[in-house]
Amino acid sequence: MVLKKLKTPLEWTELPDPQPGPQEIRVKVLACGVCRTDLHVVDGELPNPQVPIIPGHEIVGRIDAVGQGVEGLCLGERVGIPWLGHTDGTCPYCLMQRENLCDRPLFTGFTRDGGYATAAVADARFAFPLGETGTDISVAPLLCAGLIGWRSLVIAGEAKKIGFYGFGAAAHILAQVAHWQGRSVYAFTRSGDAHAQTFAMSLGAVWAGGSDEAPPEPLDAVIIFAPVGALLPPALKAVRKGGRVVCAGIHMSDIPSFPYSMLWEERELLSVANLTRKDGLDFLRLAPQIGIKVETTRYPLREANQALDDLRAGRFVGAAVLTP
Ligand SMILES: [Zn+2]
Ligand SMILES: [Zn+2]
Repeated sequence: MVLKKLKTPLEWTELPDPQPGPQEIRVKVLACGVCRTDLHVVDGELPNPQVPIIPGHEIVGRIDAVGQGVEGLCLGERVGIPWLGHTDGTCPYCLMQRENLCDRPLFTGFTRDGGYATAAVADARFAFPLGETGTDISVAPLLCAGLIGWRSLVIAGEAKKIGFYGFGAAAHILAQVAHWQGRSVYAFTRSGDAHAQTFAMSLGAVWAGGSDEAPPEPLDAVIIFAPVGALLPPALKAVRKGGRVVCAGIHMSDIPSFPYSMLWEERELLSVANLTRKDGLDFLRLAPQIGIKVETTRYPLREANQALDDLRAGRFVGAAVLTP
């Protein structure tokens, strides 16, 4: 399913299977999650968009071709291919162990072809061995919603009481992780979305309400998953002195101005960008122990546009996953 022109539907296109170059693998795609970032790709909301491009960066695939010089992965192995598709390894950020901020990165499904396809090629060094635990469909959303969510949770720090604004794919996974870690989760959904609030409570949240509501007590940290800049002021209001507000998305609408007093008293406001391979390895090692239950809605690959529309409109809970 190819994005040929920004802001237009993806087109079913027959292409020859791509061949892996040196240090690359090719996988037969088993499942590919649908992420909110894919909407930003289609809508041209990210800097320096490239078309034509095949979206999709939550790929579960089985290796069916191996390029020269690939180490540590073999034919037939099940792997996950995430958003961070390549880094140069030489820029100042790579050298300070912050490869998520690399100056010359490639991103799967954005600047290199992704997994809305029957086959995909990836840089082998950025693919994660997945083992055989968990179904392809249930593992796919872990590869972005899970990984970026995990990075956001780590950056949120030691917070005991943690709030999530936007209870979609990432928050429904992270609520289970935070609950398992012994934290108290406060879920903020679209105002009046009783279905999402019930869903949040079923995953261990101690409180669920609308994003226009104040939590019953001040929170230690908040993660904003919704791409809505207008949520920043209420999120700052929801955290205690010294509390932290983490923006987990790659794109957000403009942030309205707010009085400095809302930030004062050492509240912190920061963003999370991409992931490092270490984030992926840490999280994927932990995920089976936690026994994360991923709520998925499956769409055939040909219905990728429907899945994107449904995501935009919030028509399902949990995560959408495409299967070829
Ligand atoms: Zn770099
Ligand atoms: Zn994503």
